[in-house]
Amino acid sequence: MFDKILIANRGEIALRILRAAKELGISTVAVHSTADSEAMHVKLADESVCVGPPSARDSYLNIPALLAACEITGAEALHPGYGFLAENARFAEILADHHIVFVGPKAEHIRMMGDKIEAKRTVKELGIPCVPGSDGAISGDHEAAAVARELGYPVIVKASAGGGGRGMKVARSQSELSVALATARLEAKTAFGDDAVYLEKFLEKPRHIEVQILGDGRGKAIHLGERECSLQRRHQKVWEESPSPALNASQRGHIGEVCASAMRKLGYVGLGTIEFLYEDGQFYFIEMNTRIQVEHPVTEMITGVDLVNEQIKIAAGSPLSLTQEQVIFHGHAIECRINAEHPATFRPSPGEIAYYHPPGGLGVRVDSAVYAGYVIPPTYDSLVGKLIVHGRTRNEALMRLRRSLDEFIIDGIDTTIPLFQTLVRNADIQNALYDIHWLEKFLATGGMDIAAA
Ligand code: ADP
Repeated sequence: MFDKILIANRGEIALRILRAAKELGISTVAVHSTADSEAMHVKLADESVCVGPPSARDSYLNIPALLAACEITGAEALHPGYGFLAENARFAEILADHHIVFVGPKAEHIRMMGDKIEAKRTVKELGIPCVPGSDGAISGDHEAAAVARELGYPVIVKASAGGGGRGMKVARSQSELSVALATARLEAKTAFGDDAVYLEKFLEKPRHIEVQILGDGRGKAIHLGERECSLQRRHQKVWEESPSPALNASQRGHIGEVCASAMRKLGYVGLGTIEFLYEDGQFYFIEMNTRIQVEHPVTEMITGVDLVNEQIKIAAGSPLSLTQEQVIFHGHAIECRINAEHPATFRPSPGEIAYYHPPGGLGVRVDSAVYAGYVIPPTYDSLVGKLIVHGRTRNEALMRLRRSLDEFIIDGIDTTIPLFQTLVRNADIQNALYDIHWLEKFLATGGMDIAAA
């Protein structure tokens, strides 16, 4: 096992990794920008190194500064968390060149899954069901029109290098197709420096269901069930749960095994998430994330498996600590991502937290790095914390969520807690009757304005 690990992240995920490392008896190094010197992850780590000014580009994404921090402190491994450098294959290679262990998959797998065309081609060969679409990149309007005719409208143009919902355009008819192609290309070129795009059938009412997998790179891989993340705003997940209310045990076992088997064939190392759209009983692969995800706690709550602990142990060369048969699902878990934003307008609300009182009690977990007196800087994302509840049934989890939200006090800034207080009382949510467009429609039709009135 490692003696010392450097955590190349901030906020709640830095704290999450720090906790796992401490439980494994590993000494921790925090890095931070000048804007984060008072941050909780810095206070709780054994050592800390300032890696640059507030701008993430010059601090959390500053590879030479991170290498220097490893060198100065003698850290043998680096955990990237999510975001920042977590899915940067070149960074993983640079660390390997410096004999620092990257807590994550092989660089070749990060690169493969970062290119959506390549990812889709690979997983399809490994037996994972995909959205019908073009075979690779589309070269011109003519080819696009022919593929779209075959798929049937509507279709979606997607950037191969895409991420964060950028470089995607829907075309509902042939007349919309060339504009969709041109805009998606332009957006992709501007955002990612790569204008390769491909075409997929556009699914009208899918749910978002993703499978958590864990591999040891030596031919073993298991799945830890699925998470449903259909409640999204601007392609950002807002509310996540496990298990998905849309699946039964046999469907779960089936898609889980399809994914685990694919990862065994690939020789995948560490944690990964295989994301699907799910419509009319069918799964359609959209992408694979090669890192720990924001919503991982719901899986931990129903399996009792510490995913970050597993990640670190596998990176240190240990075999998987459990078999598929030892993964047992208990009850139901729900996570709400609480942001420093106005609950109806979503205007960011950085500033000082005047008073902070998190909820507690049976089945309640709060993953957050804030405290009373902490000033949320305007520089980074607006996640204040995650409220995760667990119950024996979905209904029990919903009741627990309702009372936990009512207990949660964060004064001094706006937060999205009132949004969740409204959602948890909504009949569609209670009956799990939603798809990936539900939340946008709810907000567009004044769902929160009515609640605020
Ligand atoms: P990104 O990496 O930019 O997040 P994804 O491929 O994961 O892109 O897609 C993001 C979201 O876009 C999905 O969660 C879904 O809401 C929508 N989407 C993507 N592909 C399709 C499709 N074929 N049909 C309908 N919606 C889609």
